[in-house]
Amino acid sequence: LDFGERKGQAERMLGLMDVFLKNDPISLQKDILHHVEYTVARSRFSFDDFEAYQALAHSVRDRLIERWHDTLIHFKKEDPKRVYFLSLEFLMGRSLSNIVINLGIRDQFADALSQLGFDFEVLAEQEGDACLGNGGLARLSACQMDSLATLDYPAVGYGLRYQYGLFRQVIVDGFQHEQPDYWLNFGNPWEIERVHITYPVKFYGTVTDEFLNGEKCKVWVPGEMVEAVAYDNPIPGYGTRNTINLRLWAAKPSDQHDMESFNTGDYVDAVVNRQRAESISSILYPDDRSYQGKELRLKQQYFFVSASVQDIFRRFKDTHKKFDEFPEKVALQLNDTHPSLAIVEVMRVLLDEEHLSWHRAWDIICKIFSFTTHTVSPEGLEKIPVDLLGNLLPRHLQIIYDINFNFVEELKKMIGLDYDRLTRMSIVEEGAVKDFYDLWPHKFQYKTNGVTQRRWIVVSNPSLCALISKWLGTEAWIRDIDLLIGLRDYATNAELHQEWKMVKKVNKIRLAEYIEVMSGLKVSLDAMFDVQTKRIHEYKRQLLNILGIIHRYDCIKNMDKNDRKKVVPRVCIIGGKAAPGYEIAKKIIKLCHVVAERINNDNDIGDLLKLVFIPDYNVSVAEMVIPGADLSQHLSTAGHEASGTGSMKFLMNGCLLLATADGSTIEMVEEIGQDNMFLFGAKAHEVVALRKKGPTLKVPLQFSRVVRMIRDGHFGFEDYFKSLCDKIEGTSDYFLLGADFMSYLEAQAAADKAFVDEERWTKMSILSAAGSGRFSSDRTIQEYAENTWDIQPCRCPF
Ligand code: PLP
Repeated sequence: LDFGERKGQAERMLGLMDVFLKNDPISLQKDILHHVEYTVARSRFSFDDFEAYQALAHSVRDRLIERWHDTLIHFKKEDPKRVYFLSLEFLMGRSLSNIVINLGIRDQFADALSQLGFDFEVLAEQEGDACLGNGGLARLSACQMDSLATLDYPAVGYGLRYQYGLFRQVIVDGFQHEQPDYWLNFGNPWEIERVHITYPVKFYGTVTDEFLNGEKCKVWVPGEMVEAVAYDNPIPGYGTRNTINLRLWAAKPSDQHDMESFNTGDYVDAVVNRQRAESISSILYPDDRSYQGKELRLKQQYFFVSASVQDIFRRFKDTHKKFDEFPEKVALQLNDTHPSLAIVEVMRVLLDEEHLSWHRAWDIICKIFSFTTHTVSPEGLEKIPVDLLGNLLPRHLQIIYDINFNFVEELKKMIGLDYDRLTRMSIVEEGAVKDFYDLWPHKFQYKTNGVTQRRWIVVSNPSLCALISKWLGTEAWIRDIDLLIGLRDYATNAELHQEWKMVKKVNKIRLAEYIEVMSGLKVSLDAMFDVQTKRIHEYKRQLLNILGIIHRYDCIKNMDKNDRKKVVPRVCIIGGKAAPGYEIAKKIIKLCHVVAERINNDNDIGDLLKLVFIPDYNVSVAEMVIPGADLSQHLSTAGHEASGTGSMKFLMNGCLLLATADGSTIEMVEEIGQDNMFLFGAKAHEVVALRKKGPTLKVPLQFSRVVRMIRDGHFGFEDYFKSLCDKIEGTSDYFLLGADFMSYLEAQAAADKAFVDEERWTKMSILSAAGSGRFSSDRTIQEYAENTWDIQPCRCPF
C-alpha cells in the first residue's frame, strides 16, 4: 500500500493492531464476550440466545470485513474489468451459517461457543431471513453472488434495501393473510451503512434545449430529488479470501429539497416530504411474475438504476479518462427487465453529461449490457405505460424514442418495409421475441441456471455433506461440483446405501419435528415425504397435486383391508406464498387446508395419507424441507417454466423428482436419465395442440370425479371453490390439468412402486445427487464470465 506522507503513522497504526483477528478458541470467546458487553450492550454475565447470536454475528462480521477490505483494495489495485449485477431482488435468507462456512471458521466458532455454554445451531436459528425478493429469480441472484465470490470474479451486486421484505404468510382458518416483514427491527449485523456514499436521484420535471460550446444539448431540470445511501453487504467466497460487495440503496430525502421547503417556512410539509422520499425503498412488490404499471415501482427501478450507474461511473472515472475504455472495464448484467432503465440511463449520462456523440454512446451500450429473461411468455415481460414514463422520466422517454427511431431505421435496411414485422419489433409497445431472434440469433444465449452447493448442501444438509466428502475422499467438490459425479461409482454399494438412508432419515426426523411443532400433526417416518414447495401459481399446478391427493384419498377409502396393506403411506407437503392480489392462488391454499383437515382427521386411513401445508415458505424453511424430502413435485404445464431452480436443490439433496418436461427438468433428464425420474404430462409442442382441441378434449372420469367432490361440498366451502372448479373444467382448463391427469396418476403410481423397492430407490437417489453437477451456479457463472461478460478471476493474494 502506498500511504505517501502518512507512512510513519500507518506503520504505527499497524503495530497497534493484530494484522488479522485470531481464530483460536480463547480469542473467539473473548471476541464474543466483548461484543456482548460493548456492541449488544448486555452484561457478559447475563445474556440470552438472541443476544448471544448478535454478539456472535458481530464477531463473524469483524472477520468478514477484514477480507472484504482486502478484496476491495486488491480490486482497486488490479483494476480488472468488473461485472455489475443489477437486480431488484435478492433472496438472501439467513447469513450466519453460510458466512462461517465460506470463511472456513464454523467449527472454531462452534467450539468456542460450546465452551461458553451455547450451541452454534441454536444461535443460528435466532437469525431472521432477509427476504428482499419473491422467489426463484431472487434466490438465483443470491446463489450467483456466492458463486461470483467463490470463483474470484471482480463483481459488484446492486439492489434495493427494502425496509419491508416479502410479506410473512400466516394462515388463519386455512386462509392466507399477509403480515409486513419489518426485517430490520432487530438490526442487521451483515450490512455496513455508508453514510458518505450517496448520490442524488432525479425525477419528474422538464427537458430544455441549451447550448454548450456552440452545440445544442438537452438539460433535464428535475421536479424532485432524493438521495440514495449505500448499504454494503459483504459476500464471502468459499476457499478464497475474496469477499465481494452487494451494495443495496436506501432512499433518503435530499438536503437540497429540504432547504427549499424550509425557506418557504413550511416546516411540516418539509418533514412530510422526507417521509415521501423514504417510501421509494420501503416496500418490495410481492408479485412473483406480473406487475401493473405502478408509479412507485417505476420510481424504485429508476432510483436503484440511477444510483448504481452513478457509482459505476464514479469508479471508472477515478482511474480512467477516456470513455472508449469503458467496455474494457465494465459489464452490466440486468436480472430480468426490472433494471432495464439502466440502458437508457447510461445512454443519458454519456450523451447529456459526458457529451459523447449518439454513435459513440450507442456503441458503448451495445458492448456493455446483457440481460437475462426469466420468463418464456410475453405476459411476464414488464411493460411501462408511456404517459407514466414521460411524466416521471421525461428525458428518458425522449431517448427511448430516439433509440427506437434509429433501431427501426436499421431494421428497414435489413428487412425492408415489412410493416407488420416492423411494428412487432418496435420497442415502443413491444412485440415478439422470435422476430428479434430471427435477425440476431447470436445475441441470444441459453444458460442453464444453477444453485450454490455451499448453501444447498453444505449449510442445509451437513450430514449429506460429510457423507459425500467421505465417499469422494475430498471436500474439493464444494468448489468443484463436477467431482460429484464420482458418487456414481458407488451407486450400488451396500455400505453407502446404508449411510445414505441414514442421512435421509436424520433429515426426515428434523422435518417431522418441525411439522409437529407447527401443526401438531405427528407424521410417520416410514411414509414417503412428498413435497411441492414454491410460489403458488396456476401454471405451477399445485391444484393438480391436490386433486391427485383427493383421488388417492378416495381410492383408499374404497379399498378393502387387504388392498390397503399395499398402499405406500405418504406425507404430502405443500408450501408457498400467493401474491396478495392473486385470488385463485389464495383459493388453492384454502383448498389445500380443507382437504388436509378432512384427510388428517380421518382415523379410518391413519398414516396411509397425511397432507400438511407449511406456512411462510422462505429460504430457511426451504433449507429444512428440501433435505427431508423423498420425492419432490414440479408440475408446471410444459412450456411455462423458463427454468425452475427449486428442482435443482432437491436433486442435489438426492430427492427424486416427479415432473413435467419443462424448464430445467428437461436438462435433468439429460443428466440422470429418465429412468431415475418420474416424468409425466404433455410436452410443450403437444400443449399447443391440446389447447386447440378445446371443447372436444376428453378428460378422464377420475378427474371429473374429484372435481365433482369439491363442487358437491365434500370438503365444504363449495360456493367459494366454484370459480376454482370452473377454471379447470371444459374450455377454461388453460393449464391442462384434465388432459395431464391420467399421466400424472401413472407417474405417482410409478413413484409408489419404486419407493417400496428400497434398494432401487436409494440407487436412484444417489444417481440424482451424483448427476446434479450441471445445476451448480458455479457452472452458470463460469459460462457468463467466459461467454458474455468477458471477465477474468482476480484473486486476493493474502
Ligand atoms: N422460493 C424459495 C425460498 C426458494 O428457495 C426457491 C428455490 O429456488 C424458489 C422459491 C423457487 O422455486 P421453483 O424454482 O421451484 O419455483
